[in-house]
Amino acid sequence: MKNALIFFAVFITATAFTFQHNNVKNQAPDKIVLTDTQYVCLPCGSECDNTIYTKPSTCPHCNMKLVDKASVKFNSIEPGALCSFIKDMGKQNVILLDVRTTEEFKGTAKDKFGRLAGAINIPVQQLEKRMGELNKYKSKEIIVYCSHSHRSPMASYMLMQKGFTRVNNMEFGMSEWKNKVKAGECSNKLYIKQ
Ligand SMILES: [Zn+2]
Ligand SMILES: [Zn+2]
Repeated sequence: MKNALIFFAVFITATAFTFQHNNVKNQAPDKIVLTDTQYVCLPCGSECDNTIYTKPSTCPHCNMKLVDKASVKFNSIEPGALCSFIKDMGKQNVILLDVRTTEEFKGTAKDKFGRLAGAINIPVQQLEKRMGELNKYKSKEIIVYCSHSHRSPMASYMLMQKGFTRVNNMEFGMSEWKNKVKAGECSNKLYIKQ
């Protein structure tokens, strides 16, 4: 009986040790992933946004600061999906934000790509300073757009950093609107020709 008890105790200890050991082994790879921060180009809408770096620095392609990849988390939306998105969300819940210059927005610049009806214009260069104007829209879906989707990803990133949670970057930009969006009742109303 005594022998049986000793055997049992040894067995339990051995089992516990094995279990603990396995547990540590299983957790190890996850820990490595969690502690290694990945860095990407501050979103600029170019191919370089997809390159991952292991150290903070600047992007050799566009000279933008590298930022924590986990902090880049805005959504993307294709121009062709905009009408159904607005219909699904309800017009009053969607804010259109044009981050181009005032001249581009008004159609007095050389490139005339049109703009979206009802859009608010805050040029990306002024966004940091004028962000307060958008505070009342913090819980709304914000669609950010420009001409080629180079400035809008950066503006989307800035909005997410300031606590806006529903930020959607419009891919391609207004320069591609006519190629990407089918004519229809909603899209015809949404597009203002310049
Ligand atoms: Zn980039
Ligand atoms: Zn870059």
